[in-house]
Amino acid sequence: MVPFLDLQSINEHFRASLQTAFDRVLDSGWVMLGRELEQFEREFADYCGVKHCIGVGNGLDAMRLVLTAWGIGPGDEVIVPSNTYIATFLAVTAVGALPVPVEPNEETFNIDPALVERAVTDRTRVILPVHLYGQTADIDPLRDIADRYGLKVLEDCAQAHGARYYGRYAGALGDAGCFSFYPGKNLGALGDGGAVTTNNDLLADQLRLWRNYGSRVKYHHEIPGVNSRLDELQAAFLRIKLLELDSQNIRRSQIASRYQQGLAGSSLILPTAPAWADHVWHLYVVRTDQRERLQRALTERGIGTLIHYPVPPHRQPALRGYPFSNEKFQIAERLADSVLSLPIGPHLTDEQVDLVIESCRAVVGMAGD
Ligand SMILES: *Cc1c(COP(=O)(O)O)cnc(C)c1O
Repeated sequence: MVPFLDLQSINEHFRASLQTAFDRVLDSGWVMLGRELEQFEREFADYCGVKHCIGVGNGLDAMRLVLTAWGIGPGDEVIVPSNTYIATFLAVTAVGALPVPVEPNEETFNIDPALVERAVTDRTRVILPVHLYGQTADIDPLRDIADRYGLKVLEDCAQAHGARYYGRYAGALGDAGCFSFYPGKNLGALGDGGAVTTNNDLLADQLRLWRNYGSRVKYHHEIPGVNSRLDELQAAFLRIKLLELDSQNIRRSQIASRYQQGLAGSSLILPTAPAWADHVWHLYVVRTDQRERLQRALTERGIGTLIHYPVPPHRQPALRGYPFSNEKFQIAERLADSVLSLPIGPHLTDEQVDLVIESCRAVVGMAGD
């Protein structure tokens, strides 16, 4: 009755223009590294307020390729939030560097700048904040630490297309920003896709080589690059969807406000957005010590929920054997045990949101009960 995500209905809204875009690519006879990609790169760079956008195969590759282009590798350390999707960690381990997790602020879910400085060592090269759930991390204090220690700042923007920090867009806040266009993201393709945004001319040039086998001229290879391109069809689809990113983000904000009002006074801990953050509500995440009961009751009423994320990266079998595997990250673990994502997105009506609100209130009761 209230699906957590409904890609079919989200894409149905764009059907006619997606089909026109498909025909345009088919008619052009050109499916890779062509005009659609060039134009999407221009349009998305303008949207974010940066000089360059470089389309790549996915969000993980975006981060992996920037770290590679910066020469990050074995012996280097990269500071990451302890609560994030595993891709943030895997981008770092993929280049042979060590992720150094730092705990989040429990109110904003984002990396706590006050804890970052004490994690800096003489091996630290990059701070990699994630704009989790659609809210930008507190970048200015991170920039300040980065400047004092000569570090780079790489933004993981995979959940934050259109989010702003004191009016500046995600993707324009660090030395480079990395986006995913995985179908369920706020700006989602009809398959995999990703991009890097940056004001740095040299980095942009290097990334164009890295994504295409290190080649500028066909069959001439300057560096040992990889195959990670955003194809013409996905670029054409993204150009259509970019036109409505702002209006869809506004709809997400309306739903979030409705939840904030409707759930106020309940025993749920609601998400908070500092005044400087224009949150784009990729996810609406509440905390509760009755999560299992609440999730089960919502499922019984046909309301979809998910947990982002049930196991923090440092506890994942995939990352066993790293120094952080034996450490405790209490905030990340506490969040993993208590967070629940309620349905949010342009596919929902006010009536559906009200049903979620009523159902939550009926199950968890009032604060102080
Ligand atoms: C989705 C996501 C990624 C990875 O993007 P892909 O395109 O799936 O590789 C990275 N970081 C975060 C925080 C994400 O949510």
